[in-house]
Amino acid sequence: MSTIDEIKQKIDIAEVIGQYVTLKKAGRNLTAPCPFHSEKHASFFVFPERQSWHCFGACATGGDVFSFLMKKEGIEFGEALRILAEKAGVVIPTRVEPGIKKEEKDDLYRASEAATLYFNNLLLNAPAAEKARNYVAKRGFTPKTIADFQLGFSLDAWEALKTHLLERGHSESNILTAGLIYQAENGQTHDRFRGKLMIPIRDSRGRVTGFGARVLDNSLPKYINSPQTPTFDKSATLYGIDLAAAAIRKQDKAIIMEGYMDVIMAHQCGVTNAIASMGTAITETQVNTLKKLSRNLVLSLDADAAGEEAMLRTVVYENVLNAEIRVLLLPEGKDPDEVISEDIGKWQDLVIKAAPLIDFMFAKTIARLDLTTARDKSLAVERLLPVLAAISDPIRQAHYLQKLAGLVKVDMNTIKASLNRLKPSPARRRTPLPKPAIRAVKDPREEYCLALLLQHPELKEHIAEVSPEYFESSENREIFKAYKMAPDVVLLKEQVDPAIHEHLDTIINRNIPALTNNIEPKFLDCALELRRRYLRSLAARKAESAGTEDDQARLEADMEISRQLKELDARRSRKHNSS
Ligand SMILES: [Zn+2]
Repeated sequence: MSTIDEIKQKIDIAEVIGQYVTLKKAGRNLTAPCPFHSEKHASFFVFPERQSWHCFGACATGGDVFSFLMKKEGIEFGEALRILAEKAGVVIPTRVEPGIKKEEKDDLYRASEAATLYFNNLLLNAPAAEKARNYVAKRGFTPKTIADFQLGFSLDAWEALKTHLLERGHSESNILTAGLIYQAENGQTHDRFRGKLMIPIRDSRGRVTGFGARVLDNSLPKYINSPQTPTFDKSATLYGIDLAAAAIRKQDKAIIMEGYMDVIMAHQCGVTNAIASMGTAITETQVNTLKKLSRNLVLSLDADAAGEEAMLRTVVYENVLNAEIRVLLLPEGKDPDEVISEDIGKWQDLVIKAAPLIDFMFAKTIARLDLTTARDKSLAVERLLPVLAAISDPIRQAHYLQKLAGLVKVDMNTIKASLNRLKPSPARRRTPLPKPAIRAVKDPREEYCLALLLQHPELKEHIAEVSPEYFESSENREIFKAYKMAPDVVLLKEQVDPAIHEHLDTIINRNIPALTNNIEPKFLDCALELRRRYLRSLAARKAESAGTEDDQARLEADMEISRQLKELDARRSRKHNSS
C-alpha cells in the first residue's frame, strides 16, 4: 500500500473537515454551510462512505481530504500530505539519495557558482537581458544590490549554460546533478532556466546551492526553483541567510519573509536581518538553523496568507525554540518590500508592535465571532483550545487559558476540563486513535486513463478532453495537473511532490495490454467514461442531499447534469455505430 493510501485509510475526512465547520448529520452523510463561500443554506456535503466532499453551491467542486485541506489552507499537495501524515502517524519515506561524497558535492557547488557568475554577467551586459534589466530597475534595485545578491539572467536558449559550463571543464553529469540542466525523454539534456531573472540561493557558508528563477512577463508559475539535489533542499533553505546571519546574531532577531524580492529590498533599505522561508510556512529544520543565531523570530505575514493548520504547527515550533514567535502584520494588500521602501519608520514601528503568535491567533479567531452569544463562545473555545494545548511551557499555557476564560467569561475549571479532554493535542499526537478501517472507493479508470496518457506522449494533444475535476483522488489529480504543464514525463516527475513518485512510477510502469493502433479512440473513450462518472456522481450525490438546499437551483443544476449526460450517451452510441 502506498503512503498516500495508508494516510487515507487512517484519516477520517469527517474529523478533519469537522475542525473547520460544524457538521450536521443528513442521512448517511454530513452537511454544513460551505467553508469556501458564504451562504445561508448548507450546500456543502461530506460523504463518509466515499471519504469525499462536495459543495453543490457556488463552488461546485469537491474531492478528497487532501484537496479539502489544500483549498482551505491555501497550500500545495505536499504540505497537505505532511500535515495529514503527521495526524495519521504515518511516516513519509524520504527519498533515498545515493550516498554522495564531499568532493562530489564540492563539484556541484563549483558548477552552481560558475553558473551564478555566467548569469550575473549576462544580466549586466547581454543585449538579450534588456527586459530583465528593466525589471530590476522597476523594482528599484541598485547596482550594489544586484552585485550583493548576484542577480542574473538566463538566455532564452536550450543549451547556452550547458555549453558554457562544459567549455569550462564541468562534466555533464555534474551539471545535471546540480539541477542546472535536465534530461528529456530522448536522452538529450537542456538548460533548465531559460529567459528568466536568476536569483542564486546560498547556504549559511555562502555556497550556491540552487536557484530561484522569475519569469519576466505575466505567465505562471511566477517562480520556478531548482529541483531537490544533493546540495539543495527547499525545506531546509533560508534565502538570504549568508548575508543576514551576522545581523541576526547582532540584533538578536530574525525577520522571516515570504519572497526573494522582499528580502532583497529589505537588505537594500538596511533591514539586514531579513531572510525568506521558501514557502508559506516555516519548517522545523529552518527553526533549528535560526535558533543557533537568535531565538527571537518575527514572521512577516500578510493578513490572510497564513492558514490555521500551518499556524498550529508553528506553535509547536515555539517549543523547539523555547521562545515565543512573533507575528508582524502587514497593512492589507501590501508586500513587505513596499512598506520598507515607502517608509522605513513605519516598518520599524510594525516590527516593534509584532504580537506573540498566540495573541495573533486569538485576535484572528475572535475577529470573526460575536462573543456575547453562547454559540460563538463555544466556537472560540473549540478553535483556540487545540492551539493552547500545543504549548508545552505550563506557565505560558496557564496565561493563555486565563485569557481565553476571561474572554468567553467561563470559569477556569471548565476550560481546564475541556483542555484535558483534548489531550494529547492533535498537533503532538503521533499515533492516531484506533478508527474503523476507512476504505475510500477507488475507481481503476482514473489510473488507467493516466497510464494511457503518460505512456503515449502523442495523446497529449487530446488532454483537454479530461478535466482535473474528473479525478477524485488528489494524487491522480496532482499528476494530471502537473502533466498538463510539463513538457514531458521526466519533468513531470520533478514537478510533483516526491511523496507521489511511488504512485507515479506505478502508473508509468503499469502494464497496459498492447494497443497497437487504437490508442487514441481508447483514450477518448476512457476520458468520456471519466466525465460520465463525474456527472453521474454529481447527480447521485445531489439526489442524496435533496431537500436541504435551494430547490430551484438544485433543479436547474440537475437538468444541466442530465442534459450533459444525455449528450455523452448520444456521442457514445454514435461512436459505437460508426466503429
Ligand atoms: Zn461552496
